[in-house]
Amino acid sequence: VAKDKGGSCYQYYDQITVDQIPERMMLENHLRKALERDEMLLYYQPLLDEKGTIIAAEALIRWSHPMHGFVSPAQFIPLAEETGLIIPIGEWVLRTACMQHLIWVREGLPKIQMSVNVSLRQFSNQDFVQVVDRVIEETGMDPKYLILEITEGYVQHHMEHAISVLGQLKERGIQIAIDDFGTGYSSLSRLHKLPIHILKLDQSFVRHLPTDEVNASIVKTVIQLGHSLDVAVAAEGIETEEELQFLQSQGCDKFQGYLFSRPIPAAQFIATFADFNLKKNLTS
Ligand code: C2E
Ligand code: MG
Ligand code: MG
Ligand code: MG
Repeated sequence: VAKDKGGSCYQYYDQITVDQIPERMMLENHLRKALERDEMLLYYQPLLDEKGTIIAAEALIRWSHPMHGFVSPAQFIPLAEETGLIIPIGEWVLRTACMQHLIWVREGLPKIQMSVNVSLRQFSNQDFVQVVDRVIEETGMDPKYLILEITEGYVQHHMEHAISVLGQLKERGIQIAIDDFGTGYSSLSRLHKLPIHILKLDQSFVRHLPTDEVNASIVKTVIQLGHSLDVAVAAEGIETEEELQFLQSQGCDKFQGYLFSRPIPAAQFIATFADFNLKKNLTS
């Protein structure tokens, strides 16, 4: 094995330690300690309305690992879910995002919404609504500025429980977004029973609009569906002017993607907000 990679001892060790199981165990051990070691942080990505105003920030977790640098949430969120570590991590995300909202307002940012991703394991946990209540109470966050993003999966398979939990959140004034919409085959008859406010079109459907005809027709359909259910449609992962123009022409309500801004650290958000308003005033 070592010879294939040049035969050095280093390569040989590399083969062993990078082998899947030890790597996973190492990552899991590190993940267990990441919160207490203060290695987690949140970035924030703007969400815009049709006029180009920033109306919300989506909190996206980042793990600054002492050896591996930034580890992508696509890598560690699944591991956090499997191990149950998502419960404390998710609560930390919610609390940190709510605290950040209050800090921004104190620093002069107009009250925009704060969107927080919630994983299936968190949402299906019995204590979820209590955790949300506790964080709201402890931080003083006004729940009407909070959006919780959940994916289709859980809702699909546990309809009764999902309706009950979503209903309780709605009573508190919290808005619900269905994230990655279109990837989970939600049945339409069920969708209208859910108290949701926003459908977030999965970014795979935004790619190569309008050239990709399949995506173009999916996007049209989802926007019409959303509007017939009285739900706003957001598009994520917008990278090009062409994608944006097509989405606008179809009546999409909210826009997010690298074309406007990547996720940025909290400290940059106020300056970015001011930049956007400046540009908007110059072009209108
Ligand atoms: P998501 O919630 O669907 O977030 C969108 C992802 O797309 C983010 O990746 C974002 O950085 C990326 N993105 C935004 N605009 C563009 C674009 O124009 N082009 C491309 N190619 N990508 C774009 P990120 O931050 O790596 O997060 C990946 C996923 O990890 C998220 O998908 C979400 O499912 C999960 N995640 C992130 N933070 C959290 C968290 O705090 N809690 C939970 N439970 N899940 C999280
Ligand atoms: Mg999301
Ligand atoms: Mg998504
Ligand atoms: Mg997602």
